[in-house]
Amino acid sequence: MSDKRDYYEVLGVAHDADQRTIKRAFLKKARELHPDVNKAPDAEERFKEVNEAYSVLSDEQKRANYDRFGDPNGPAGFGGGSGYVDISDIFGGMGMDDIFSSFFGGAGGHGTRERRRAGRDMAIRLTVTLEEAALGCTKTIGYDRLAPCEDCGGKGYADGATERSCPTCRGTGFVTTVQRSIFGQVQSSAPCPDCHGEGTVIDHPCEMCDGQGRTPTHERIDIQVPAGVSTGAKLRVSGYGEAGWRGAPAGDLIVTVEVAEDDRFQRRGDDLACTVSVSMTQAALGTTVEIEGVMPDEGVSVEVPAGTQPGATVRVAGKGMPRVSGSGRGDLVAHIEVAVPRKLTGEQRACLERFAELTGETVEKRKNFGERLRDAIDDIID
Ligand SMILES: [Zn+2]
Ligand SMILES: [Zn+2]
Repeated sequence: MSDKRDYYEVLGVAHDADQRTIKRAFLKKARELHPDVNKAPDAEERFKEVNEAYSVLSDEQKRANYDRFGDPNGPAGFGGGSGYVDISDIFGGMGMDDIFSSFFGGAGGHGTRERRRAGRDMAIRLTVTLEEAALGCTKTIGYDRLAPCEDCGGKGYADGATERSCPTCRGTGFVTTVQRSIFGQVQSSAPCPDCHGEGTVIDHPCEMCDGQGRTPTHERIDIQVPAGVSTGAKLRVSGYGEAGWRGAPAGDLIVTVEVAEDDRFQRRGDDLACTVSVSMTQAALGTTVEIEGVMPDEGVSVEVPAGTQPGATVRVAGKGMPRVSGSGRGDLVAHIEVAVPRKLTGEQRACLERFAELTGETVEKRKNFGERLRDAIDDIID
């Protein structure tokens, strides 16, 4: 067992604390400890601890597992099942550190940081199975972002508070200083320290978000994956990227789909290729092989004509992947493999020798009695 501290203890909240209390406690501690603001040697370690506790307690599923089993992932070997994917792979220049820096980095700073009003887009990868891609599916995903603050509705200020023009910079967002030097007067302009370059100030900023209108949040949303989707497809979820500053427009969440390799089918555009094995007699005489299709409970009849050669292909129209446009499906392309028997019974051998006689082929002669006896003993041992 690890000597990790209890997550509730780390955040200093009761075991039955609601989400709002947990978030408030987290934000308060994280603001004090963020490495951008706190230069104490252990600040980074403690910030990580607080962040880990919050990432578990802010997710109802992980919290329930933690309460019940002492492990956010549930008991060993329990994983999966629910179709819920927790995504930590946020790319496109926005990792977890970036989310926190956007939020905590500038808080109480000196206005040197350039504020972005509109939120940025965020990008994640989502892997689905070939079956899920064929049928279309809904995936519930969890990820972290700066989301509009629930307490103030994203405005950044408490009810009854007002936003007014900043008196320091007279609403321009910049202050100009004039310095004397040996070359004469030098004028320089810098973001206003009182409004951080915003041009407006609030008399009662929202306590939860410290006036930003957004907070680091573990988001949980459903993603609709359309039938026929292929690797590299991008799904855009409007408004689920980084929330904007004080109610400015949020960025989008861009989900790049990856369709996992399948054991049975290889995808070629909308067609699906697979291998079907028949015996040499079936190849010679023709047969129909029933296989399972890509759709649930779908049977596909692969008709192998008489005289089929090894490596030949049989195309079954309309049994491939659905087209993402919604107009029909691709084909299933079966590559035929011909299996030659490794062992023959006496009767089978006699039949084939007779066949060779009819076609005038030269074949190995039937073994003598001693060899056949040894084969028979081998058969019994096998
Ligand atoms: Zn707020
Ligand atoms: Zn100002």
